[in-house]
Amino acid sequence: MFKALLDLIFPPKCEVCRQPGRDALCPECCRQIKFLRPQLGVYSAAVYDGVVKEALHRFKFQGRQGLAEPLGVLLVQYLSQAPGLKMSEVEALVPVPLHRKRLRQRGYNQAELLARVIGRYYDKPVVTALERQRNTHAQFDLPRQERFTNLKEAFRVGDRAAVQNRKVMLVDDIYTTGSTVGECVRALKTAGARRIEILTLSRAVE
Ligand SMILES: [Zn+2]
Repeated sequence: MFKALLDLIFPPKCEVCRQPGRDALCPECCRQIKFLRPQLGVYSAAVYDGVVKEALHRFKFQGRQGLAEPLGVLLVQYLSQAPGLKMSEVEALVPVPLHRKRLRQRGYNQAELLARVIGRYYDKPVVTALERQRNTHAQFDLPRQERFTNLKEAFRVGDRAAVQNRKVMLVDDIYTTGSTVGECVRALKTAGARRIEILTLSRAVE
């Protein structure tokens, strides 16, 4: 009832193109997404440009949490078609963490929200086992070489028991140079994770 009233005052629109409609991401925008093939054990669903770039920007920097659902569903669709991936073997989803300061500012971790949609669909626990030790600069602002040093030992596993001897899937919103996921994988391995799959919503293609 309340929702219906809200819809009347603020008719729902696509978050990207602003066309009126029930979906936070309309079918027309979804059609424009450029999907990627899985490569080298890294599952990145789509190219980071156009609709995906716009949607992620709103999702991360403009508080549009409603985008977690359509973007998460997009990931689920992608995973269900990824050859060679056995989701049944994945025991836990581990989102790449934000530094607690940034988490406080934003109020949510976008990677965690995406992981929750996937977790709900596949009935997998989302474990926030990783911690960001240093507040690193946004990767995009840095020259390529500095992106690597910027992240050195930026992550650690706070909750070892949550990942030890388990097959986990690391989840992030974007894969840039691979240094963020690389550092997370290293921390997860150190903590005893048995196998680590990598899933990101988007990938920056240079
Ligand atoms: Zn749209």
